[in-house]
Amino acid sequence: MTRITVIRPQLVEFVPDRLEGGVLYISRRYATAVHLCCCGCGSEVVTPLNPAKWRLAESNGAVSLSPSVGNWSQPCQSHYWIIGNQVRWAGAMPAEMIVAVKRRDRRDAERLTLPPPSWWTRLWQFIMALFRGKQG
Ligand SMILES: [Zn+2]
Repeated sequence: MTRITVIRPQLVEFVPDRLEGGVLYISRRYATAVHLCCCGCGSEVVTPLNPAKWRLAESNGAVSLSPSVGNWSQPCQSHYWIIGNQVRWAGAMPAEMIVAVKRRDRRDAERLTLPPPSWWTRLWQFIMALFRGKQG
């Protein structure tokens, strides 16, 4: 398996069945980008483009994806940034940090998709926080 260092953006309407390595398929229609893991393992990496997930920036035909891509659910555990069509490899992340990132992702997603909590939910969360605080 060879790690790739350059990725080429390609605008598509539908993501093709067969993906090519080193290509970042961007579907504006579905607000999603898909690419094959840059480590060469062949895993499909789907990065939904919305405020709770990833943001795609484009300048002069070069794309950047933020935040970084972490394939924690794949055996390769690849972690890299895509900046200006370049793949910048990050060091391996300790397992506990991966858990923290996953938790944060979930929280962000919840915050954006759920309606604001009612006073009752807030009270309950407050009580639960107190309870957890005492335990830990
Ligand atoms: Zn991989």
